Order: sequence, then C-alpha cells, then structure tokens
Amino acid sequence: MAVEIIKVLSVLEKTHQPTMLEMLKDYTPFQRLVATLLSARTKDVTVIPVVKDLFQKYPGPKEILKLSDAELEKKLYRIGFYKVKTKHVKELCRILLEKFDGKVPDTLEEMTTLPGVGRKTANCMLSYVFNKPAIAVDVHVHRISNRLGWISTKTPEESEERLMAIVPRDSWNKVNMLLVDHGQRICLPINPKCKECPVLKYCEFGKRRFTSSRSHIA
Ligand code: SF4
Repeated sequence: MAVEIIKVLSVLEKTHQPTMLEMLKDYTPFQRLVATLLSARTKDVTVIPVVKDLFQKYPGPKEILKLSDAELEKKLYRIGFYKVKTKHVKELCRILLEKFDGKVPDTLEEMTTLPGVGRKTANCMLSYVFNKPAIAVDVHVHRISNRLGWISTKTPEESEERLMAIVPRDSWNKVNMLLVDHGQRICLPINPKCKECPVLKYCEFGKRRFTSSRSHIA
C-alpha cells in the first residue's frame, strides 16, 4: 500500500495548485493560525483577501485586541460564522499573550488548548508552518483517502490514525496539501470528476464507477 500511496501523491504533485496555507507562506505563524481558524466551512478564496486586509493594519494579537468585537466582526463579516469566529480570534489573542508570550506554540498538545483549535487545525500548523510531520485530516482528506481505498473509516480521527500507520512518515506533510487541492478541484464531495482524474487507475471508488468502460482507465 505504501508504494501505491507514494505513486498517487507523486501523480497529484504534478498538477498541484497551492491551497490557502501555501499561498500565505510568507505570513507569520499567528496570521496563518488565524487564517486557518477562519477558513472552517468557508472557501479559501473568501478568506484570503479578508485576512490580507486585516493583517495589514492589525498584524498580531496585541493589535487585534485593540479592535472591539463589533469592529472585528465588521472586518470578518464575509466569512461564514463570523460572529463565533470573532470571539474565538479575540480569545485566542488573549490566551497567546497571557500564556505563550504572544507566540503560537509548536506542539499539538499546547495548540489544542487554544480556543477553536482542534486536531485538524493543529496538525495543519505543525505541517505547513512548523515543518513537523503531521497528517491534517479535514473533510477532503477523509473522503478521498477512503475513496482511493487506502483506508476504510467512519471519522476523521480514525482516518488520521490509520493514515499515520500506512503513509510513510516522510510523506505525511504531502497528504493534506495534495488531497485538499484535489478535493477542491476534481474529487468533489458530490459528482467527483473521475473522468478527468489523474489517479483514476489507482482509485477503488473511481474504478467501480467505470467498470463498464475499463478501457478508459488502462
Ligand atoms: S477517481 Fe474519482 S473518486 Fe477517485 S480520486 Fe479521482 S475523482 Fe476522486
């Protein structure tokens, strides 16, 4: 299985287009954490201009705390669930200043004590920002790794555990990066575009869909 996984990742790498955290690679860990929190259930294309605009004037936790809740809500209003996220961001700023000297901690244990930060977000930070091996399992990674037949799981937590067992450690950081982009453009939740998928011949779900026209995938 490891050989096939490496093959799929290398095929996807050839057509990869950067996702949000790659596009924000020059931003600080704090800024990338805030962007990740804001991106829950909101498209990257909506989040990116909002955070770029916010960080120009309010680059760190101290500056953001100078904004009232109403002022921050106004800046985030285009983002889904912006009222709850405003509260999380302000609370995050307070805790970072009180407990972590204003810096984002770089361990899963510490990051998951922060408001709004679950395993997925913490693993994204480890992998994209701190360059530590981690598999951040979001809806795309969970769905696609099951469709490909790498795993057979019911929850993202279970998927993370299984993927860590079967993906070679030096490829962990590629999993989220490549599958999220693939899930946003090709392997859509409903009606995946299997006919134009570069990894169709490695995919159990895709091959089942096209058993009557196998010559297309040889
Ligand atoms: S073949 Fe279809 S289901 Fe499989 S990875 Fe590609 S788009 Fe997704």
